[in-house]
Amino acid sequence: MRYSLQHRYIASVLALVLGAVLMLGGVFFITLRSVTRSITHLSIDTMREVMLDQVRHRGAVMVNLLADNLAAPLSLADMPAIHLLAVSALEQKDVQYFYVYNSQGEILEDGGGNASNPDKRFAPTNSEHAMTANTPLVDIQNESMDVFMPIFVDNVPLGGVRVGFSLKSVNLELEERISSFHDLGHQKRNESLTMLAFFSACFIVIGVILACLFARYMSNPVLELAHYAKRIGQGDFGFRFSLNRRDELGLLSRTMNEMALQINEKNKALLEAHTLLEKRVLDRTRELMLAKDKAEAANRAKSNFLANMSHEIRTPMNGVIGMTQLALLASPRPEQREYLELIEKSSYRLLNVVNDILDFSKIEANKLDLAVQRFDLRDTIATTIREFSFKAQEKGLELDWTVQDEVPDAFMGDAGRLSQILINLIGNAIKFTQSGRISVRVEKEYAELDEFIAHFSITDTGIGISPEYQASIFEAFSQADESHSRPYEGTGLGLAICAKLVGLMNGQIWVESAEGKGSVFHFTALLKTASPEQSEPDQNAAHGQPDDAQKQSGPKLAILLAEDNLVNQKVAQKMLERSGHRVTVAVNGQEAVAVFGRQPFDLVLMDIQMPMMDGFEATQAIRDLEKDSGKHTPIIALTAHAISGYREKCLERGLDDYLSKPMKIADLNAKIADHLPQKMSTPV
Ligand code: ADP
Repeated sequence: MRYSLQHRYIASVLALVLGAVLMLGGVFFITLRSVTRSITHLSIDTMREVMLDQVRHRGAVMVNLLADNLAAPLSLADMPAIHLLAVSALEQKDVQYFYVYNSQGEILEDGGGNASNPDKRFAPTNSEHAMTANTPLVDIQNESMDVFMPIFVDNVPLGGVRVGFSLKSVNLELEERISSFHDLGHQKRNESLTMLAFFSACFIVIGVILACLFARYMSNPVLELAHYAKRIGQGDFGFRFSLNRRDELGLLSRTMNEMALQINEKNKALLEAHTLLEKRVLDRTRELMLAKDKAEAANRAKSNFLANMSHEIRTPMNGVIGMTQLALLASPRPEQREYLELIEKSSYRLLNVVNDILDFSKIEANKLDLAVQRFDLRDTIATTIREFSFKAQEKGLELDWTVQDEVPDAFMGDAGRLSQILINLIGNAIKFTQSGRISVRVEKEYAELDEFIAHFSITDTGIGISPEYQASIFEAFSQADESHSRPYEGTGLGLAICAKLVGLMNGQIWVESAEGKGSVFHFTALLKTASPEQSEPDQNAAHGQPDDAQKQSGPKLAILLAEDNLVNQKVAQKMLERSGHRVTVAVNGQEAVAVFGRQPFDLVLMDIQMPMMDGFEATQAIRDLEKDSGKHTPIIALTAHAISGYREKCLERGLDDYLSKPMKIADLNAKIADHLPQKMSTPV
């Protein structure tokens, strides 16, 4: 059977419904019984009436007949005939008595029958009426019936006849009938009630059994199916199952089985596709990694080349700048001074370009680390602004700066790189502004614990930047269209370097600008606020150089200069001698150590990259020599590497400080003064 579950379900429900209906029927029947009982009583009364009517009619008919038959004998006074009639009447069943009266009401024939009824022999009270009426008079008592009929011949009353009937048999019959009627009703009722109870009980029991069976028949396979569905849900397709049934559950189990099979197939296909895809991705990734490695190697080579190139350029530049400075100090003629000053200016510009390239290539090669040193933000900004005040004045521009009160003074960070960003942005602002003002603002963006995000903005009233160009302004080598930037010098690297440095400071840089109205360059930087116990800012980081004249009037020192490059030797030597110091030159590390072993020096200037023995090794050897005497001679490194963190490296290796080449006379004197303050302050 295809839908046996349905049928079972319907059967048990039907059985239960039938049982319920039968029970209701029983209740209805019992109610009905009390109603029918009263109806039965009514029917019995009617039945009695009918039977009495029949008896009355029979009596009347019989007495009428007797009256007719008595008319002739009565008119002839034929007594024997009357007697004969009386005898035959008394022979009738149930006839108790029989009287014949004359017209005076006297009894002519007295058939007392078996039962004597003296009271009924004659009834004077109704005799008159009896004699005149032509219909029988019937009087029914409990056990008997009395019927009187007057006899007329041609309307002349002759007398009457009176017959008494016993009603015992009638009563008996009536009782029998009633009792049988009662019995029958009773029996019938009891039978049907029993039947009703039996059937409703049967149906209810069958219904309950069917329902239980059905429930078991249903729930077991459903539980089994649920178990399989759970396994499928958990991704277990490696089993086959089928309920061995021909109903809906069997159908469901087979469908589930098919579904699991299909899912399994699809999963397999998916897995294959996935594996294939993974392999492809892996191949592709490998290719890409190779390409990336190649590109990175090329980029590294480019950066290395740029770094080397700039280093190579910086060394001769050191000579050019140094010599120019010396020539300027040698009282040149006015015309010569002008040329020399132009040479110096061009040299610094060239140096700036080289520095930009070096910075950019270092950042690209991830070789640029930021220093973490205590610095005063307001001092740093003031110094930077001071560097531009002359240029701004020259162009007739106002230059101002404000630092919001909420911004603390002391921070830990790279003040050098921060001012490099400011120098670039303020430099550009001055460069691209013909009139108006340049304002530098620093505000608090966010602060929590020791973390502080400072928001810098540099506003100018210059030529502005077109919206299209704003989008790419922070990319390397980008400059606004030629017609714009042609009159302005620049490499297009400044903003790219700023963006990279801001990135290193976990900040963001952006620009707002309207062409012809001006620009606002914003950048944020995450700085650490410095606690009071953190070391004081490095004296060397302070700008504002001491007066040259003061330096020159300082005491004469014995200085050992270790430098392999002839031009640089000459520059440094001349600069030092100009300040009146005694200079001993060593051309490499080895020679420097040897000279130092022979005679004492107040200070050593040590080039780092030298043949035979480099500056670090030579310093180590000098420190070893000093161990016995307990003396400490300041050693200042001279390097063309202007890398942040280089000072720390020098300190680690036993040096006291470093000076980057090309050096300015003022810087050199300041450094010497930093390390020998007592000697320098001694008056000559
Ligand atoms: P450059 O060394 O050429 O100035 P930058 O990266 O500093 O390189 O600037 C790139 C270009 O962005 C500039 O050439 C100029 O066109 C534009 N620019 C930068 N700052 C400003 C400014 N304040 N006002 C107008 N244009 C600017």
